[in-house]
Amino acid sequence: MKLRCEGCAGCCVDWRPLAPEAAGSDRAGRRPPLDDVYDLAPLTRDEVVEFLDRGLGDVMTPRLFEPAEGDDRVRIDGIDLATVDGSPAFVIGLRKPPKPVAPIGTDEPRWLDSCVFLDPLTLQCRIHDDDAYPRTCSAYPGHNLALDAETECERVEAAGGGERLLDDDPPVDLPAPAFGPQALGSTVFAYPDPDDLAGAVARIRDGGTTAADRARFVGAAAGSRPGSLSVDRDRMAEARDRAREADSWAGRAIREWSGRAGDDGVVADLDADDREALVRDLEDDAGAPATPGWET
Ligand code: SF4
Ligand code: SF4
Repeated sequence: MKLRCEGCAGCCVDWRPLAPEAAGSDRAGRRPPLDDVYDLAPLTRDEVVEFLDRGLGDVMTPRLFEPAEGDDRVRIDGIDLATVDGSPAFVIGLRKPPKPVAPIGTDEPRWLDSCVFLDPLTLQCRIHDDDAYPRTCSAYPGHNLALDAETECERVEAAGGGERLLDDDPPVDLPAPAFGPQALGSTVFAYPDPDDLAGAVARIRDGGTTAADRARFVGAAAGSRPGSLSVDRDRMAEARDRAREADSWAGRAIREWSGRAGDDGVVADLDADDREALVRDLEDDAGAPATPGWET
């Protein structure tokens, strides 16, 4: 597998406003996500705990799923949810606030939902060389290549975003996929108290989660045991509290970007100097790790 990622960020931003037809295939599975976040990268339980340990409990968000035909389900807020043994199934991913970015080879920065860790200027990941770099991101698009499924890189190419996938042999050391029976308690979790989710399910669907909603699911993921449905109640409560209390540079940046953003996909009304100053102010000077540049 060999990629040319410079100037792309196709798998880190929601570029559907640029090419709706090209970027619509991240939800082709039998159990569609309830929310409309594009390309949410599922985190492992250990990664959830790692972010919590670093005080970054406010960068994560849950995803619930619609049931497939014949699936067990539970109905909350008038919405049917896929369940595992009666408990709503969910994954945890990274939040995507709107940022002024110019991805997939475009040169005009637009307000597009972007991973909290994407540097809007360099279009590089701020945690790429870090232990916290999510496994899903480091392996991408290896699983697609192994399954002969279309990759985001090819969608970017088809949308005129330049040559991206230079070698399509999947890596030999691919980690276990994020979905499937082996993922239970590791990347796919089961929320143990469905009765507590009234209101939260509708907010997740509508993209309006509260910090308490997000912390509730982060806690349940951190309290999960890989390979099992059981959740350690003490670890769940402690992790929920830590997520709820987190106040990181990244969480503050999400609030700031969300408050300043123009409409989805609209060209950002910022000249180059203003954009650079804003990114420095909201991210770099606030504690965000720098990106290494493409030469390295
Ligand atoms: S963690 Fe990094 S590579 Fe993964 S989606 Fe976010 S910016 Fe992209
Ligand atoms: S879509 Fe492919 S080429 Fe573009 S940044 Fe992601 S992995 Fe790299």
